[in-house]
Amino acid sequence: MPAHSPHATAPLTSGLLTDLYVGGKEVPASDGGRFDVLDPATGDVVASVADGTVEDALTAVDAAEQAAAAWAATSPRQRSEVLRRAFELMTAQADDLARLITLENGKALPDARGEVAYAAEFFRWYAEEAVRASGSLLTAPSGAHKILVLQQPVGICVLVTPWNFPAAMATRKIGPALAAGCTVVLKPASDTPLTALAMARILADAGVPDGVVNVLPARRSGAVVSAMLHDPRVRKLSFTGSTEVGRVLLKEAADHVVNCSMELGGNAPFLVFADADLDAAVDGAMVAKMRNAGEACTAANRFYVEASVAEEFAGRLAERMAAMRVGPGLEPDTEVGPLVNEDSVAKVDELVRGALGAGARTLVGGRRPDRTGYYYEPTVLLDVRPGSPILEEEIFGPVAPIVTFTEEDEAIRLANTTEYGLVAYVYTGDLARGLRVSEGLESGMVGLNRGLVSDPAAPFGGVKESGIGREGGHDGMLDYLESKYVAVQW
Ligand code: NAD
Repeated sequence: MPAHSPHATAPLTSGLLTDLYVGGKEVPASDGGRFDVLDPATGDVVASVADGTVEDALTAVDAAEQAAAAWAATSPRQRSEVLRRAFELMTAQADDLARLITLENGKALPDARGEVAYAAEFFRWYAEEAVRASGSLLTAPSGAHKILVLQQPVGICVLVTPWNFPAAMATRKIGPALAAGCTVVLKPASDTPLTALAMARILADAGVPDGVVNVLPARRSGAVVSAMLHDPRVRKLSFTGSTEVGRVLLKEAADHVVNCSMELGGNAPFLVFADADLDAAVDGAMVAKMRNAGEACTAANRFYVEASVAEEFAGRLAERMAAMRVGPGLEPDTEVGPLVNEDSVAKVDELVRGALGAGARTLVGGRRPDRTGYYYEPTVLLDVRPGSPILEEEIFGPVAPIVTFTEEDEAIRLANTTEYGLVAYVYTGDLARGLRVSEGLESGMVGLNRGLVSDPAAPFGGVKESGIGREGGHDGMLDYLESKYVAVQW
């Protein structure tokens, strides 16, 4: 990347894919429509991107169908090597990709670099898994026959991704889908389509045949995704986004009984017991809260701290939050970039106002800074009243609301008082307590004395209204395979 000022966007945006990517070709939308992608640091237009129509969506399914049989017939080793090359290309282009993510999403460059490394790992992991999709053979208990189980690709997949991790949410789906032998149509979020299109080019350069991966930016997401879910050739939906939209898509998928994997919203509790190492708890809180400026489904959303250490924990957290440098994501010393758009900042501010109105205290932050762009100050709130909307809704911003508790059971009960169940964090010096509390928490994942759980080798996903299915690890590939049982007699 040539030297340039942080907002000289020309070198970053030149040569980008900005059309639909269907059947290995860049094509405009069938009605010629386009939409603007904005830089959250300035509100300036970064690029104009083709706006896919229902007709384009069905053309993309045609392309995925034409490529399906040949791709499913490739050897696992061939698919593995293509994915491995994609990992290497992504790693080689990590800096450019990170800048592109920052440009359209706003996140600070270190967060974007972290995302690219994490995203690329899904290609490496599924390059390794592609050759291990084994079936099984056993003798029926009666001895009458054999039970042969084959693993076959589920078929054409529609992948829908959010704006908060534009690279990683795409690779976490594309990696296992391709490893399993499926072809896909990816509909990225309209705030961040450029990264998904850049991924399409990387995959093509890695040797993915035309039509295996199609990318369809579309602002009319409801109509476009619905049309694909009502095309009987589509057999799988993998969605990452809000619980609200997830519910709508589950209903849509019901019409043709489309197989669904749903990675939905979170409302992560962060529990700190008095016996915890407070330095480690504050470090963990900073990661769990501030990665991506709080714009993560895994973001610590509610802090429950044992009363005897609450003032101490809150004070140390506030000190660290106050020291964070807020600014444009592309500036070298920025630690907290802008939020993705105006609606996000307005929502965060409304939640903070609501909590303060109900009696919470601000230890640091608590307002929009006086500058252009979609910024919010890193904020710590103490004495937040149970039942405040800030404890019930995803904040998706750099705000840490703190509530105190006195008993272990009370902490578990407070943590579980939500319809979400994605991830929870627990800090304690007593491992037995940590494991006991982890068992009692209603969440798909727990960070025990750790503020970060995401790992390509681990099964990521939620319970309750946070989702269905798992991504990553061995389980992630099973979501793209169907078991076929053959009763055999010999
Ligand atoms: P969103 O639900 O608004 O959008 C997600 C995707 O769905 C986007 O591509 C969007 O264009 C599309 N979409 C929106 N309405 C649609 C409709 N009616 N039909 C079909 N598609 C539609 O979510 P978002 O604001 O992009 O992302 C933030 C949300 O994603 C948060 O709730 C966050 O917790 C969640 N998330 C979850 C995970 C996870 O792994 N569980 C990971 C990242 C983000």
